[in-house]
Amino acid sequence: MSKIQMKTPLVEMDGDEMTRVIWQMIKDILLTPYIDLKTEYYDLGLEHRNATDDKVTFDSAEATKKYGVAVKCATITPNAARVEEYKLKEMWKSPNGTIRAILDGTVFRTPILVKGITPYIPTWTQPITIARHAYGDVYKNVEMQVKKGSKAELVCTDADGNVSRETIYEFNEGGGIIQGLHNRDDSIASFARACFNYALDMKKDIWFATKDTISKKYDHRFKDIFQEIFDAEYKEKFDAAGIEYFYTLIDDAVARVIRSNGGYIWACKNYDGDVMSDMVATAYGSLAMMTSVLVSPDGIYEYEAAHGTVQRHYYKYLKGEETSTNSVATLFAWTGALKKRGELDSLPELMAFADKLEQATIGTIEDGIMTGDLYLLSTLENKKKVSTEEFLNAVNEKLQSLL
Ligand code: NAP
Ligand code: MG
Repeated sequence: MSKIQMKTPLVEMDGDEMTRVIWQMIKDILLTPYIDLKTEYYDLGLEHRNATDDKVTFDSAEATKKYGVAVKCATITPNAARVEEYKLKEMWKSPNGTIRAILDGTVFRTPILVKGITPYIPTWTQPITIARHAYGDVYKNVEMQVKKGSKAELVCTDADGNVSRETIYEFNEGGGIIQGLHNRDDSIASFARACFNYALDMKKDIWFATKDTISKKYDHRFKDIFQEIFDAEYKEKFDAAGIEYFYTLIDDAVARVIRSNGGYIWACKNYDGDVMSDMVATAYGSLAMMTSVLVSPDGIYEYEAAHGTVQRHYYKYLKGEETSTNSVATLFAWTGALKKRGELDSLPELMAFADKLEQATIGTIEDGIMTGDLYLLSTLENKKKVSTEEFLNAVNEKLQSLL
Protein backbone atom coordinates (compact mmCIF):
# COMPACT_ATOMS: atom_id res chain seq x y z
CA MET A 1 0.00 0.00 0.00
CA SER A 2 1.44 3.39 -0.92
CA LYS A 3 1.63 6.02 1.79
CA ILE A 4 -0.59 9.10 1.86
CA GLN A 5 1.33 12.14 0.63
CA MET A 6 1.28 15.57 2.25
CA LYS A 7 1.92 18.99 0.70
CA THR A 8 2.62 21.55 3.43
CA PRO A 9 4.42 20.43 6.59
CA LEU A 10 2.70 20.38 9.95
CA VAL A 11 4.47 22.27 12.70
CA GLU A 12 5.31 19.55 15.22
CA MET A 13 5.97 20.67 18.80
CA ASP A 14 7.37 17.82 20.87
CA GLY A 15 7.03 17.93 24.66
CA ASP A 16 7.79 16.29 27.97
CA GLU A 17 7.55 13.21 30.17
CA MET A 18 4.84 10.57 29.55
CA THR A 19 3.22 12.52 26.75
CA ARG A 20 6.60 12.66 24.96
CA VAL A 21 6.76 8.87 25.16
CA ILE A 22 3.19 8.60 23.84
CA TRP A 23 4.00 11.12 21.07
CA GLN A 24 6.66 8.85 19.62
CA MET A 25 4.47 5.75 19.97
CA ILE A 26 1.59 7.43 18.09
CA LYS A 27 3.91 8.40 15.26
CA ASP A 28 5.55 4.97 15.06
CA ILE A 29 2.42 2.83 15.40
CA LEU A 30 -0.34 4.88 13.79
CA LEU A 31 1.04 7.62 11.56
CA THR A 32 4.30 6.93 9.74
CA PRO A 33 3.24 3.44 8.53
CA TYR A 34 0.38 5.12 6.63
CA ILE A 35 1.42 8.70 5.90
CA ASP A 36 4.53 10.15 4.36
CA LEU A 37 4.52 12.43 7.38
CA LYS A 38 5.87 15.90 6.63
CA THR A 39 6.56 17.98 9.72
CA GLU A 40 8.76 20.85 10.73
CA TYR A 41 9.98 19.60 14.10
CA TYR A 42 10.48 21.78 17.18
CA ASP A 43 11.62 20.16 20.39
CA LEU A 44 9.75 21.95 23.19
CA GLY A 45 10.95 19.41 25.73
CA LEU A 46 12.18 21.30 28.79
CA GLU A 47 15.84 20.39 28.28
CA HIS A 48 15.87 21.83 24.79
CA ARG A 49 13.90 24.93 25.82
CA ASN A 50 16.55 25.50 28.47
CA ALA A 51 19.41 24.90 26.03
CA THR A 52 17.95 27.44 23.57
CA ASP A 53 16.98 29.97 26.24
CA ASP A 54 13.37 29.22 25.25
CA LYS A 55 14.01 30.48 21.71
CA VAL A 56 12.63 27.22 20.33
CA THR A 57 9.18 28.09 21.73
CA PHE A 58 9.15 31.45 19.94
CA ASP A 59 10.45 29.85 16.73
CA SER A 60 7.73 27.18 16.84
CA ALA A 61 5.04 29.86 17.22
CA GLU A 62 6.48 31.84 14.28
CA ALA A 63 6.52 28.65 12.19
CA THR A 64 2.86 28.11 13.09
CA LYS A 65 2.09 31.59 11.78
CA LYS A 66 3.92 30.73 8.57
CA TYR A 67 2.34 27.32 7.88
CA GLY A 68 -1.03 27.74 9.62
CA VAL A 69 -1.35 24.39 11.45
CA ALA A 70 0.56 22.97 14.43
CA VAL A 71 0.27 19.95 16.69
CA LYS A 72 1.68 20.20 20.20
CA CYS A 73 2.62 17.67 22.86
CA ALA A 74 2.05 18.57 26.52
CA THR A 75 4.98 20.43 28.06
CA ILE A 76 6.20 21.12 31.57
CA THR A 77 5.55 24.63 32.87
CA PRO A 78 8.51 25.04 35.21
CA ASN A 79 8.04 25.78 38.89
CA ALA A 80 10.69 25.85 41.63
CA ALA A 81 10.82 22.04 41.82
CA ARG A 82 11.37 21.76 38.05
CA VAL A 83 14.13 24.37 38.09
CA GLU A 84 15.92 22.10 40.54
CA GLU A 85 15.04 18.83 38.77
CA TYR A 86 16.20 20.02 35.34
CA LYS A 87 18.91 22.43 36.58
CA LEU A 88 17.29 25.25 34.60
CA LYS A 89 18.98 28.56 33.86
CA GLU A 90 15.67 30.31 34.52
CA MET A 91 12.07 29.50 35.42
CA TRP A 92 10.97 29.60 31.77
CA LYS A 93 7.43 30.74 31.10
CA SER A 94 4.58 28.45 30.10
CA PRO A 95 5.06 27.54 26.41
CA ASN A 96 1.29 27.60 25.98
CA GLY A 97 1.17 31.16 27.29
CA THR A 98 3.98 32.22 24.97
CA ILE A 99 2.41 30.61 21.91
CA ARG A 100 -1.04 31.95 22.73
CA ALA A 101 0.32 35.49 23.08
CA ILE A 102 2.15 35.30 19.72
CA LEU A 103 -0.85 33.87 17.87
CA ASP A 104 -3.38 36.06 19.76
CA GLY A 105 -5.41 32.87 19.99
CA THR A 106 -8.46 31.55 21.78
CA VAL A 107 -8.50 28.03 23.25
CA PHE A 108 -11.44 25.74 22.45
CA ARG A 109 -11.80 22.57 24.54
CA THR A 110 -14.05 19.72 23.45
CA PRO A 111 -14.62 16.36 25.17
CA ILE A 112 -14.50 13.12 23.18
CA LEU A 113 -17.61 11.05 23.92
CA VAL A 114 -17.64 7.24 23.92
CA LYS A 115 -20.31 4.65 24.71
CA GLY A 116 -19.92 3.23 28.18
CA ILE A 117 -18.81 6.49 29.77
CA THR A 118 -21.88 8.48 30.74
CA PRO A 119 -21.45 12.14 31.60
CA TYR A 120 -22.51 13.11 35.12
CA ILE A 121 -25.21 15.11 33.33
CA PRO A 122 -26.71 12.20 31.37
CA THR A 123 -28.62 14.49 29.00
CA TRP A 124 -25.31 15.82 27.62
CA THR A 125 -25.32 13.45 24.68
CA GLN A 126 -23.22 15.78 22.53
CA PRO A 127 -20.02 17.61 23.45
CA ILE A 128 -20.01 21.13 24.84
CA THR A 129 -17.03 23.09 23.55
CA ILE A 130 -15.77 25.79 25.88
CA ALA A 131 -13.95 28.85 24.53
CA ARG A 132 -12.16 30.90 27.14
CA HIS A 133 -11.09 34.51 26.60
CA ALA A 134 -7.53 34.29 27.83
CA TYR A 135 -6.78 37.96 28.45
CA GLY A 136 -7.40 40.44 31.24
CA ASP A 137 -10.10 40.80 33.91
CA VAL A 138 -9.12 39.33 37.27
CA TYR A 139 -6.02 37.64 35.73
CA LYS A 140 -4.41 41.05 35.16
CA ASN A 141 -5.82 42.78 38.23
CA VAL A 142 -4.39 45.21 40.73
CA GLU A 143 -5.69 44.88 44.24
CA MET A 144 -5.20 46.32 47.68
CA GLN A 145 -6.17 45.64 51.24
CA VAL A 146 -7.02 49.00 52.84
CA LYS A 147 -7.47 50.34 56.35
CA LYS A 148 -10.46 51.99 58.02
CA GLY A 149 -10.80 55.60 56.88
CA SER A 150 -9.48 54.93 53.37
CA LYS A 151 -11.27 56.38 50.36
CA ALA A 152 -10.94 54.31 47.18
CA GLU A 153 -11.35 56.02 43.81
CA LEU A 154 -11.23 54.95 40.18
CA VAL A 155 -9.08 57.53 38.39
CA CYS A 156 -8.30 57.65 34.68
CA THR A 157 -6.13 60.21 32.88
CA ASP A 158 -6.63 60.30 29.11
CA ALA A 159 -4.00 61.16 26.47
CA ASP A 160 -4.89 64.87 26.71
CA GLY A 161 -4.50 64.90 30.46
CA ASN A 162 -8.22 64.99 31.26
CA VAL A 163 -8.95 63.23 34.52
CA SER A 164 -12.11 61.21 35.24
CA ARG A 165 -12.73 60.17 38.78
CA GLU A 166 -15.31 58.02 40.55
CA THR A 167 -15.53 57.00 44.15
CA ILE A 168 -15.44 53.26 44.60
CA TYR A 169 -16.01 53.22 48.35
CA GLU A 170 -15.29 55.16 51.52
CA PHE A 171 -14.17 52.74 54.21
CA ASN A 172 -15.64 54.62 57.18
CA GLU A 173 -16.74 51.62 59.24
CA GLY A 174 -13.60 49.52 58.88
CA GLY A 175 -10.94 48.25 56.48
CA GLY A 176 -11.57 46.18 53.36
CA ILE A 177 -10.39 45.24 49.91
CA ILE A 178 -10.42 46.82 46.45
CA GLN A 179 -9.55 45.60 42.99
CA GLY A 180 -8.91 47.21 39.60
CA LEU A 181 -9.64 45.30 36.38
CA HIS A 182 -9.25 46.04 32.71
CA ASN A 183 -9.77 44.57 29.30
CA ARG A 184 -9.01 45.82 25.79
CA ASP A 185 -11.38 46.34 22.86
CA ASP A 186 -8.91 44.70 20.45
CA SER A 187 -8.55 41.62 22.65
CA ILE A 188 -12.32 41.23 22.99
CA ALA A 189 -12.69 41.67 19.21
CA SER A 190 -10.05 38.99 18.51
CA PHE A 191 -11.84 36.67 20.89
CA ALA A 192 -15.17 37.32 19.17
CA ARG A 193 -13.72 36.67 15.70
CA ALA A 194 -11.95 33.48 16.81
CA CYS A 195 -15.27 32.26 18.27
CA PHE A 196 -17.36 33.11 15.20
CA ASN A 197 -14.79 31.58 12.83
CA TYR A 198 -14.58 28.41 14.87
CA ALA A 199 -18.40 28.15 15.02
CA LEU A 200 -18.49 28.36 11.21
CA ASP A 201 -15.69 25.82 10.97
CA MET A 202 -17.47 23.35 13.28
CA LYS A 203 -20.98 24.23 11.99
CA LYS A 204 -22.14 24.63 15.56
CA ASP A 205 -24.14 27.32 17.35
CA ILE A 206 -22.24 29.66 19.62
CA TRP A 207 -23.44 30.97 22.97
CA PHE A 208 -21.97 33.94 24.80
CA ALA A 209 -22.94 35.32 28.20
CA THR A 210 -21.86 38.06 30.58
CA LYS A 211 -23.34 39.88 33.57
CA ASP A 212 -24.24 42.99 31.56
CA THR A 213 -27.30 43.85 33.68
CA ILE A 214 -25.06 44.47 36.68
CA SER A 215 -21.87 45.58 34.91
CA LYS A 216 -23.42 48.16 32.60
CA LYS A 217 -20.14 49.40 31.11
CA TYR A 218 -17.55 46.65 31.56
CA ASP A 219 -19.53 43.51 30.74
CA HIS A 220 -21.78 45.47 28.43
CA ARG A 221 -18.76 46.33 26.30
CA PHE A 222 -18.16 42.61 25.70
CA LYS A 223 -21.79 42.16 24.64
CA ASP A 224 -21.66 45.16 22.28
CA ILE A 225 -18.38 44.20 20.62
CA PHE A 226 -19.62 40.65 19.99
CA GLN A 227 -22.90 41.94 18.53
CA GLU A 228 -21.26 44.61 16.31
CA ILE A 229 -18.77 42.13 14.86
CA PHE A 230 -21.45 39.50 14.40
CA ASP A 231 -23.82 41.86 12.56
CA ALA A 232 -21.11 43.38 10.36
CA GLU A 233 -19.04 40.32 9.47
CA TYR A 234 -20.77 37.04 10.30
CA LYS A 235 -24.56 37.27 10.22
CA GLU A 236 -24.90 36.27 6.56
CA LYS A 237 -22.35 33.46 6.85
CA PHE A 238 -24.15 32.09 9.90
CA ASP A 239 -27.52 32.21 8.09
CA ALA A 240 -26.01 30.39 5.13
CA ALA A 241 -24.49 27.73 7.43
CA GLY A 242 -27.76 27.38 9.39
CA ILE A 243 -26.12 28.16 12.73
CA GLU A 244 -26.93 30.71 15.39
CA TYR A 245 -25.22 33.26 17.65
CA PHE A 246 -27.06 33.32 20.96
CA TYR A 247 -26.42 35.90 23.69
CA THR A 248 -27.87 35.66 27.17
CA LEU A 249 -27.09 36.54 30.80
CA ILE A 250 -24.50 34.29 32.46
CA ASP A 251 -27.02 32.99 35.03
CA ASP A 252 -29.47 32.08 32.30
CA ALA A 253 -26.64 30.47 30.29
CA VAL A 254 -25.65 28.21 33.18
CA ALA A 255 -29.26 27.08 33.67
CA ARG A 256 -29.66 26.40 29.94
CA VAL A 257 -26.36 24.52 29.71
CA ILE A 258 -27.48 22.08 32.40
CA ARG A 259 -30.81 21.49 30.64
CA SER A 260 -29.23 21.18 27.17
CA ASN A 261 -28.10 18.16 25.15
CA GLY A 262 -24.77 19.84 24.31
CA GLY A 263 -23.64 20.27 20.73
CA TYR A 264 -22.68 23.96 20.81
CA ILE A 265 -19.73 26.21 21.58
CA TRP A 266 -19.92 28.20 24.80
CA ALA A 267 -17.81 31.37 24.70
CA CYS A 268 -16.82 32.51 28.18
CA LYS A 269 -15.17 35.53 29.71
CA ASN A 270 -11.82 34.68 31.28
CA TYR A 271 -12.98 33.76 34.78
CA ASP A 272 -16.17 32.01 33.63
CA GLY A 273 -14.07 29.96 31.19
CA ASP A 274 -11.55 29.02 33.88
CA VAL A 275 -14.25 27.75 36.22
CA MET A 276 -16.69 26.29 33.68
CA SER A 277 -14.04 24.40 31.72
CA ASP A 278 -13.13 22.43 34.84
CA MET A 279 -16.77 21.78 35.60
CA VAL A 280 -17.57 20.68 32.05
CA ALA A 281 -14.43 18.52 31.77
CA THR A 282 -15.23 16.74 35.02
CA ALA A 283 -18.85 16.25 34.06
CA TYR A 284 -17.85 14.51 30.83
CA GLY A 285 -15.70 12.02 32.73
CA SER A 286 -11.99 12.29 32.07
CA LEU A 287 -9.43 15.01 31.45
CA ALA A 288 -7.62 12.47 29.29
CA MET A 289 -10.54 12.63 26.82
CA MET A 290 -10.48 16.42 26.39
CA THR A 291 -9.06 17.95 23.23
CA SER A 292 -7.89 21.50 22.93
CA VAL A 293 -7.28 23.75 19.94
CA LEU A 294 -5.88 27.26 19.88
CA VAL A 295 -7.46 29.31 17.07
CA SER A 296 -6.23 32.74 16.04
CA PRO A 297 -8.62 35.38 14.66
CA ASP A 298 -6.94 35.02 11.26
CA GLY A 299 -7.48 31.25 11.16
CA ILE A 300 -4.27 29.65 12.46
CA TYR A 301 -4.76 26.38 14.37
CA GLU A 302 -2.68 24.68 17.05
CA TYR A 303 -3.99 21.32 18.31
CA GLU A 304 -3.14 19.62 21.60
CA ALA A 305 -4.48 17.54 24.47
CA ALA A 306 -5.96 19.48 27.39
CA HIS A 307 -4.08 17.42 30.00
CA GLY A 308 -0.48 17.79 31.14
CA THR A 309 2.59 15.56 30.88
CA VAL A 310 1.19 12.90 33.28
CA GLN A 311 4.28 13.06 35.46
CA ARG A 312 3.34 10.29 37.91
CA HIS A 313 2.99 7.75 35.08
CA TYR A 314 6.30 8.89 33.61
CA TYR A 315 8.19 8.12 36.81
CA LYS A 316 6.69 4.62 36.73
CA TYR A 317 7.73 4.30 33.08
CA LEU A 318 11.29 5.35 33.96
CA LYS A 319 11.44 2.60 36.58
CA GLY A 320 10.50 0.13 33.87
CA GLU A 321 7.01 -0.46 35.26
CA GLU A 322 4.05 -0.93 32.94
CA THR A 323 1.92 2.17 32.41
CA SER A 324 -1.67 2.52 31.30
CA THR A 325 -1.75 6.13 30.16
CA ASN A 326 -4.57 7.37 27.96
CA SER A 327 -3.31 8.56 24.58
CA VAL A 328 -6.69 9.54 23.12
CA ALA A 329 -6.51 13.33 23.52
CA THR A 330 -2.95 13.40 22.13
CA LEU A 331 -4.01 11.17 19.25
CA PHE A 332 -6.96 13.48 18.50
CA ALA A 333 -4.60 16.44 18.48
CA TRP A 334 -2.80 14.69 15.60
CA THR A 335 -6.00 13.78 13.76
CA GLY A 336 -7.35 17.31 14.20
CA ALA A 337 -4.17 18.81 12.78
CA LEU A 338 -3.99 16.31 9.90
CA LYS A 339 -7.62 16.98 8.99
CA LYS A 340 -7.09 20.73 9.02
CA ARG A 341 -3.90 20.37 6.94
CA GLY A 342 -5.82 18.13 4.53
CA GLU A 343 -8.63 20.67 4.28
CA LEU A 344 -6.27 23.59 3.58
CA ASP A 345 -4.19 21.62 1.06
CA SER A 346 -7.19 19.85 -0.56
CA LEU A 347 -6.03 16.36 0.43
CA PRO A 348 -9.24 14.33 0.87
CA GLU A 349 -7.24 11.15 1.41
CA LEU A 350 -5.45 12.64 4.41
CA MET A 351 -8.75 13.89 5.87
CA ALA A 352 -10.39 10.49 5.38
CA PHE A 353 -7.44 8.76 7.06
CA ALA A 354 -7.67 11.05 10.09
CA ASP A 355 -11.41 10.35 10.33
CA LYS A 356 -10.84 6.61 10.24
CA LEU A 357 -8.15 6.86 12.88
CA GLU A 358 -10.62 8.67 15.15
CA GLN A 359 -13.28 6.03 14.43
CA ALA A 360 -10.78 3.26 15.18
CA THR A 361 -9.85 4.91 18.50
CA ILE A 362 -13.44 5.34 19.65
CA GLY A 363 -14.32 1.90 18.31
CA THR A 364 -11.51 0.28 20.30
CA ILE A 365 -12.79 1.80 23.56
CA GLU A 366 -16.38 0.88 22.71
CA ASP A 367 -15.19 -2.70 22.08
CA GLY A 368 -14.06 -2.67 25.72
CA ILE A 369 -10.30 -2.16 25.29
CA MET A 370 -9.18 0.85 27.31
CA THR A 371 -6.57 2.37 29.60
CA GLY A 372 -6.91 2.41 33.39
CA ASP A 373 -8.49 5.84 33.73
CA LEU A 374 -11.41 4.85 31.48
CA TYR A 375 -11.59 1.32 32.91
CA LEU A 376 -12.59 2.87 36.26
CA LEU A 377 -15.40 4.88 34.62
CA SER A 378 -16.74 2.58 31.93
CA THR A 379 -20.04 0.79 32.42
CA LEU A 380 -19.32 -1.73 29.63
CA GLU A 381 -19.58 -5.33 30.80
CA ASN A 382 -16.72 -6.85 28.85
CA LYS A 383 -14.05 -4.28 29.52
CA LYS A 384 -10.34 -4.90 29.65
CA LYS A 385 -7.59 -2.67 31.01
CA VAL A 386 -4.55 -2.51 28.74
CA SER A 387 -1.16 -0.79 28.79
CA THR A 388 -0.29 2.42 26.98
CA GLU A 389 1.26 0.55 24.08
CA GLU A 390 -1.31 -2.28 23.95
CA PHE A 391 -4.03 0.31 23.49
CA LEU A 392 -2.29 1.89 20.50
CA ASN A 393 -1.69 -1.53 18.97
CA ALA A 394 -5.38 -2.37 19.40
CA VAL A 395 -6.30 0.91 17.66
CA ASN A 396 -3.95 -0.02 14.84
CA GLU A 397 -5.64 -3.39 14.41
CA LYS A 398 -9.04 -1.72 14.24
CA LEU A 399 -7.71 0.92 11.84
CA GLN A 400 -6.49 -1.76 9.45
CA SER A 401 -9.98 -3.25 9.35
CA LEU A 402 -11.36 0.19 8.36
CA LEU A 403 -8.82 1.06 5.64
P1 NAP B 1 -1.62 16.12 34.31
O1 NAP B 1 -0.39 15.79 33.61
O2 NAP B 1 -2.79 16.48 33.46
O3 NAP B 1 -2.01 14.91 35.23
C1 NAP B 1 -2.80 14.96 36.38
C2 NAP B 1 -3.39 13.60 36.68
O4 NAP B 1 -4.52 13.38 35.83
C3 NAP B 1 -2.45 12.45 36.38
O5 NAP B 1 -1.58 12.20 37.45
C4 NAP B 1 -3.43 11.32 36.10
O6 NAP B 1 -4.00 10.82 37.29
C5 NAP B 1 -4.53 12.05 35.36
N1 NAP B 1 -4.26 12.11 33.89
C6 NAP B 1 -4.01 13.21 33.14
N2 NAP B 1 -3.85 12.88 31.87
C7 NAP B 1 -3.96 11.54 31.81
C8 NAP B 1 -3.85 10.59 30.76
N3 NAP B 1 -3.58 10.99 29.50
N4 NAP B 1 -4.02 9.28 31.04
C9 NAP B 1 -4.29 8.87 32.29
N5 NAP B 1 -4.40 9.71 33.33
C10 NAP B 1 -4.23 11.04 33.10
O7 NAP B 1 -1.42 17.37 35.29
P2 NAP B 1 -0.26 17.66 36.39
O8 NAP B 1 0.22 16.38 36.99
O9 NAP B 1 -0.83 18.72 37.23
O10 NAP B 1 0.92 18.30 35.56
C11 NAP B 1 2.06 17.60 35.10
C12 NAP B 1 2.88 18.53 34.23
O11 NAP B 1 2.13 18.90 33.08
C13 NAP B 1 3.26 19.82 34.92
O12 NAP B 1 4.65 20.04 34.79
C14 NAP B 1 2.46 20.90 34.21
O13 NAP B 1 3.20 22.09 34.09
C15 NAP B 1 2.22 20.29 32.87
N6 NAP B 1 0.98 20.71 32.19
C16 NAP B 1 1.05 20.98 30.86
C17 NAP B 1 -0.07 21.30 30.13
C18 NAP B 1 0.06 21.58 28.67
O14 NAP B 1 1.14 21.50 28.11
N7 NAP B 1 -1.02 21.88 27.99
C19 NAP B 1 -1.32 21.35 30.77
C20 NAP B 1 -1.39 21.05 32.13
C21 NAP B 1 -0.24 20.72 32.84
P3 NAP B 1 -3.39 9.57 38.09
O15 NAP B 1 -1.99 9.94 38.44
O16 NAP B 1 -4.30 9.48 39.27
O17 NAP B 1 -3.45 8.35 37.20
MG1 MG C 1 -9.54 26.23 35.90
